[in-house]
Amino acid sequence: MSGVPIVVVHGGAGAWRGFSLEEFKVATRALEEAVRSGLEASRAGDCVDMVVEAVARLEDSGVFNAGLGSVLDYSGNLTMDAGIMASDGRAGGVAAVSYPRNPIKLARIVMEKTPHVIIAGPWADELARKLKLEAHPGPSGRALDRWRKLKIEPNASPWIKLRVETARALGYDTVGAVASDGKGCLAAGVSTGGVALKLPGRVGDSPIPGAGFYATPTIAVAATGIGETIILSMASLRLADYYEKTGDVEKAATMLVEEHTRRWGQGTIGVIIVTGKAEVTARYNTEAMPWAYARLGEKPIVGGLPNIVE
Ligand code: ASP
Repeated sequence: MSGVPIVVVHGGAGAWRGFSLEEFKVATRALEEAVRSGLEASRAGDCVDMVVEAVARLEDSGVFNAGLGSVLDYSGNLTMDAGIMASDGRAGGVAAVSYPRNPIKLARIVMEKTPHVIIAGPWADELARKLKLEAHPGPSGRALDRWRKLKIEPNASPWIKLRVETARALGYDTVGAVASDGKGCLAAGVSTGGVALKLPGRVGDSPIPGAGFYATPTIAVAATGIGETIILSMASLRLADYYEKTGDVEKAATMLVEEHTRRWGQGTIGVIIVTGKAEVTARYNTEAMPWAYARLGEKPIVGGLPNIVE
């Protein structure tokens, strides 16, 4: 199979309330940059390089809830999840890590250099340290401010029982990317600080193949939203199955998101998709999900911004 490399990225499905127009511009630029970096990586690399480059760029932007911009848990600590999968069936994830600046790079190492699929907590951090991955500088000023504000709200920890309404209001602007290198290799990757005010030790959908991301030789999917709902529905795997059955990516994406909405309500999920036939699409049942895509040689196209911007 041959074709043109494609990168699709997202900055998280959520309410995206309280962001200024200026902040949306910064977010949009970061998404476009991530698409360009991912496409650039296709010149010397494959779909895995493309996804890692795009996600690392978003982690480094500090704009989103991933990498430098990661939100904090209920105790004010930073723990991140990330995962990656390639269409040859390999996958890697890291859960509740604090050390690496770019958890997506550690997830790739788990996939490529260990016999495991997911490594968690201090042991994953230790692996990152041993491999001399760049260290995370600690919570951003914005994440700390956000935590202080959220902490004083009544009903501050929604996570003892999953409360979808509260989770919706908190927002979950994580990042993800899917890519096709045009040579038959598809990949999907995600990275997140998780949901704000999560209980310490909480792991979301992002390190779990089939839940937060999935890739086959015909489709790559990255999901965002309330991780608990995405794990319980195995959303990315299910979407890939719907595509296998229908051969229609638009139909498969609609089926998945409608089904998710029926079960879990609005404001719970978003997905970005690329297929082996070079089709690109996205769906979300949240107020917004800023996303962008381009084929090599094209300018990135941005969508999913909230009404105040469009
Ligand atoms: N899915 C992520 C999680 O629940 C959050 C997000 O998508 O923003 O950890």
